[in-house]
Parts: sequence; C-alpha cells; structure tokens
Amino acid sequence: MMDGFDWLRGLILDIDGVISRGRKPLPEAIEAYKMLKEAGIKIVFVSNNSTRSRRIMMGRFREFGMEVGEEELIIATHATAVYISRERKNARVYTTGEEGLKEELRNEGLRIVDYRDAEYLVVGSNRGINFQIFTEALRLCLNEEVRYVAVNPDRVFPAEDGPIPGTGLVIGALYWMTGREPDVIIGKPSRIIMDQAIERLGLRREEVGIVGDQIEVDVLAGKNAGIKTFLVLSGVTNKDNYEERVKRSGVEPDFVFSDLYELAHSVLASK
Ligand SMILES: [Mg+2]
Repeated sequence: MMDGFDWLRGLILDIDGVISRGRKPLPEAIEAYKMLKEAGIKIVFVSNNSTRSRRIMMGRFREFGMEVGEEELIIATHATAVYISRERKNARVYTTGEEGLKEELRNEGLRIVDYRDAEYLVVGSNRGINFQIFTEALRLCLNEEVRYVAVNPDRVFPAEDGPIPGTGLVIGALYWMTGREPDVIIGKPSRIIMDQAIERLGLRREEVGIVGDQIEVDVLAGKNAGIKTFLVLSGVTNKDNYEERVKRSGVEPDFVFSDLYELAHSVLASK
C-alpha cells in the first residue's frame, strides 16, 4: 500500500471469514484483533446473522479465547430490534425467526404477538421453519398495512460442508407467493446496520473502514455507507477467485489483504 493509514481510527469487522471459519477460530486473526485494539483502533463487529442474539455470539467469542463485550457487537438481529423500536416504540411484531432473534426483539421492548395482531412482519432464518409459519407470514405479507422487515438479504449461507439456505428461503417464498419484497432490509449491504455500527464507534465516516471477506456483502456495505473498504482473502473470497469476483460484481475494494493479520501489520507499521 502506498498511502498510510493515518486517517484510520476505527474498524468494522465482519466475523465469519475474518476472525473464524464457521466454528473454527483463525488464531492469527485473533492476535491481529488484539494488536489493533492495543494500538487504540476502535473496533465493532458486524454480523448479518439472523438467528443469534448478542448473548449467544459473546459465548462463541469466548470459545475463541476473546473477551468481546455487548457494546462491541452489532448483529443483524439486534440492529433489527433497534431499528423497529426507533420507528415505533413497543410495536407488536410477528417473526418467522428463531429464539435468538426473539430475544433481541424483546430486549428492545417490542412485543411478540399472534400474527393476527401484528403491525410488523420480521423475517429471519429459522432452521425449524414449517408450513404454519409460512402460512402466517404469507397472510401478513398480503396485508399492505403490515410493515415487512427482513433481518438480512442473504440468499444462501456458506456453511463448512457447503451452502445452506439463508433468509432468502423465506424472502424468496413470500415473494413467489405474493410478489411482495421487504419494505426494509437491515443487514449488510444495507446501510442501516452500517449506520448503527458507525454510531457505535462514535467516529466520523472518513475515520472508519470495514473489513470483510465478501465483495457483494461487506465491500458493498462499506461503499453504501461512504467508508473505506478492506477485503480479506481468508473466507468466501480467496486469492484464486478474487479477480473474477471483482470483475463480476463491478465493486472494487479500496484495499486487499490476505488476512486480518497482514492488514493489522500494515496499518500499524504506517502509524
Ligand atoms: Mg464474512
């Protein structure tokens, strides 16, 4: 990198593909996270996960040997709850999602109700989704007065043994049945979750960068939020598919590093 990183005061870090691969932590990345923090770089983790609460995610970090507090975590479940409660305090919501999402919705004072009483339809992944949940979500979707919020727009999720359905399973089914798409999407690349992360850092946009492994998720989210973008080749994007993926997406990251460790060294060397 030719230019230095004097401007950099805070980083928004993606989790899967940056700090870990699935349940496996990347030890050098965890070391890098600690180095960056010690050097005074503010950090917030941002994840599109739609099934876990912050409490569950903090447990995962502890397994990795990291102490990450609630204030360092913006998960799409939590960001969705914050968004809705700012729009309508104590709103009545119905969700297709799992307990982790429900926990975050309740934490923000939202009321989880029978679908017939709901003002909001909140769509998130659910590994136990069934015909009844689809039926209730369908009926809400057909009601124009109900506000339809999707936790993230992820079509599929790259699991260790291959792709698994993301929130796209539900968004796609509802779309095919009704022709309706979500009124609001919270997770990356939406700038809604990014704005909450920047707000949490308490920095100006020109002092912040996002680090992630997916061009059309993380890099695009950074562009949408008007901050600098760092792509790491330690997850979905790697050194073999990088050029093809940049060309296909038409989205170019500001900086590319093999992993968070190389990034941290480069950033700290220039400061
Ligand atoms: Mg990722």
